[in-house]
Amino acid sequence: MTLREHPSPAAPTSSPVPLPDRSRGSTEPSPDPAADSAAATSTEAEKFPQPKLRLKIHDLDHPGASKFLTSVDAATVVSTAVNNVLRLLYKTSSDRHTNCPPTRSVTLVLRDMDGVAYTTGTALDNDHKEIHFSLNYINSIRPASRLTDEITGVLTHELVHCYQWDAQGTCPGGLIEGVADWVRLNCDLSPPHWKRETEGSWDRGYQHTAYFLQYLEVRFGEGTVRRVNEGLRQRKYKAEYFWLELLGQSVDELYGDYVGKSEGDECNA
Ligand SMILES: [Zn+2]
Repeated sequence: MTLREHPSPAAPTSSPVPLPDRSRGSTEPSPDPAADSAAATSTEAEKFPQPKLRLKIHDLDHPGASKFLTSVDAATVVSTAVNNVLRLLYKTSSDRHTNCPPTRSVTLVLRDMDGVAYTTGTALDNDHKEIHFSLNYINSIRPASRLTDEITGVLTHELVHCYQWDAQGTCPGGLIEGVADWVRLNCDLSPPHWKRETEGSWDRGYQHTAYFLQYLEVRFGEGTVRRVNEGLRQRKYKAEYFWLELLGQSVDELYGDYVGKSEGDECNA
């Protein structure tokens, strides 16, 4: 069983973070590799096969429940988020078919609990996932105009945990959480308090690592984070080889480049 927790976010303190300058979602290639170049100009996003989706609301009287139900269409928001996660991590439905964890169902459980959300496999079968999402947290989201994006952002983050690889449990937790927030960032769902920071190590996790991953995506090209995820599929994580084999430099060198570039580029942070 795996369990990934989403922490309580820091209080919003700054102006909204501009999204990285990259086009997204409008050039989905065909699942047929031979047709990739022709499909590169297509504007039709590919639909990925969906898991069975379920919703459980433990307490309909909780004020967070009505806020959830009036802010999002549960079926649409979850299936759209699944599609975004698979598009960003697996590119085509054939990649998803062969290279993706075999998640067969996702049950969203809205309940009275501390924290924000976490994702877990079920006790009997890890291919069936549960996302537990706090009704208290949903009720606390301010202003009300943030409800839809914040709910969608948290769900997108948690759904990444249903579909990402973790190097057979050896991947640093910060990289796992960074990939999840990188997907959220690339779905235009970053909360207002997110900002690019260069303090601390590369694997502090969450948005901190997500912005580093975005730097790598821009520097090494579209699909770099997808390659990171793929690199975590079949082998155990060894820091001294992983980044060198993938990108030709150690992660410390890459992060040093990122910090140096960020410090000279603060206006765009
Ligand atoms: Zn997480």
